[in-house]
Amino acid sequence: MTTEMGKLIKAAIAEVNKCALVCRYYADHAEEFLSDEPVKTEAEETFIRYEPIGPVLAVMPWNFPFWQVFRFAAPALMAGNVGLLKHASNVPQSALAIEAIFRDAGFADGEFQTLLITSEQVQQVVNDDRVKAATLTGSEAAGASVAGMAAKQIKKSVLELGGSDPFVVMPSASLDDAVSAAVKARIVNNGQSCIAAKRFIVHEKIADEFEKRFVAAMQALKIGDPMDESTEIGPLAMPQIIQDLDQQVQRSVAAGAKLLTGGKRLGDRGNFYAPTVLSNIPHDSPAACEETFGPVASLFRVRDAEEAIRVANETKFGLGASVWTRDRQEAERFIDGIESGQVFVNAMVASDPRVPFGGVKHSGFGRELGVYGIREFVNIKTVWIATLA
Ligand code: NAP
Repeated sequence: MTTEMGKLIKAAIAEVNKCALVCRYYADHAEEFLSDEPVKTEAEETFIRYEPIGPVLAVMPWNFPFWQVFRFAAPALMAGNVGLLKHASNVPQSALAIEAIFRDAGFADGEFQTLLITSEQVQQVVNDDRVKAATLTGSEAAGASVAGMAAKQIKKSVLELGGSDPFVVMPSASLDDAVSAAVKARIVNNGQSCIAAKRFIVHEKIADEFEKRFVAAMQALKIGDPMDESTEIGPLAMPQIIQDLDQQVQRSVAAGAKLLTGGKRLGDRGNFYAPTVLSNIPHDSPAACEETFGPVASLFRVRDAEEAIRVANETKFGLGASVWTRDRQEAERFIDGIESGQVFVNAMVASDPRVPFGGVKHSGFGRELGVYGIREFVNIKTVWIATLA
C-alpha cells in the first residue's frame, strides 16, 4: 500500500490489523447472524432462512486497498458467496496479495478471485449470468455506471460513494479534544478518505479560537516520506489528485474564499500538497459543495444548532457526521437533523466491524459491516409450513 499509493507505513500496518479484525468478527458472528429466524404466525412453523446468492463482483477504490476489499469479502464469503474483485488500476499488487491471502487461508480455488481487468470490462462481468450482484466503492460517476449495469440485468447492487462530511463544534464541547480530532479527521489517509471530515462547522462563540488552534495544528504537521514512522502526512496517491485538488482550492479562492494557510503543492518531487484551510467560503464554491480528496479543510461559522444542521445538510452527500457537544439534548437534535448514514458524537467518524457503515443521498445505498452487511448478499427466504398434520 505504501509503495503503490503512498499510505503512511504506520497506517498501512493498522489497516492490515483492521482487516484481521473484520475476519475474526464474522468468523465469530456469522453463524448467529445467518441462523434460521423463527417468526410467530398462525402457521405451524414460520422462519426466515439466509442463503448465499453466488458470485458477487466488487469494484474497489485505491484509497484503502486492503480494508475496502476485506470489509466486503469477509461477510460475503462467510455467507457462502464467491468474491470477484476488480480493484483500482493503480493497486494491482495489493489486489494480487489479497487473492493470495485467501488462498493461503485455505479457501478453495476460485472462491475469491482477483480479476485484472479494466473498468471497460466490468460490464461484461456484470452481464455474465453466473454473477448475481455487484458492489462498488468509489466515485459517484463509477457508482452510477455500475449500478445502472446491474439494474439492467435485474441484479442487486450496493454503493459506497463519496462524502463531504460535516464536523460540527458547539460551545459546550472540549475545544482541546475537538481541535485535535478535527486535524486527525481531515488528514486521515493523507486526506483521501470518504469519511474524512471536510467541512468544519463551528459555533460563532468559539469560532475564532477554534480557527486559530486548528490552523496552527495544520501548519505544524510533519510532511514527508510515508515509509518514515514519524511522518504525519505523506504524498497524495496520483499527480491527477493534486491537480484536481489545487483547482478546487483556486476556484474557491477566486469565488471569494479566504486562504488561511496552504493552497499550494510542496516541492517539485512527489505529490505533496500543503495542509490547507479556507474560510468565508461561498456556498456554491467547490470547497463547500464538492468532495475535496486531500488535506483541504473548509471552515464555516454558524449562529446556532439549527444553522449548523442546515449547513451540514447543504451537500448532495450524506455519509458521516461528527458532532462535538456536551449537551445531550443538543446532541439529539443533530442525531435527528443531519442527513447521513452515521453520526458520531464527540468522536471522529470511523468504520467498525460491529456497526453498519454506508450512506444516504449521493453517498450511496446499502450497508457494509455489522449484521446488516452480511445480509446484503443473501437470499432472505421466507419459509411457511402451514401444517405437517
Ligand atoms: P473511482 O475512480 O470511482 O474508482 C473506483 C473503482 O471503480 C476503480 O476500481 C475503478 O477502476 C472503477 N471504475 C471507475 N469508473 C468505472 C466505470 N465507469 N465502470 C466500472 N468501473 C469503474 O474512485 P477512486 O478515485 O478510486 O476512489 C475515490 C472515491 O471513492 C472518492 O469519491 C471516495 O469518497 C470514494 N470512497 C468511498 C468509500 C465509502 O465507503 N463510501 C470508501 C472509500 C472511497 P479503474 O481504477 O480501473 O478506473
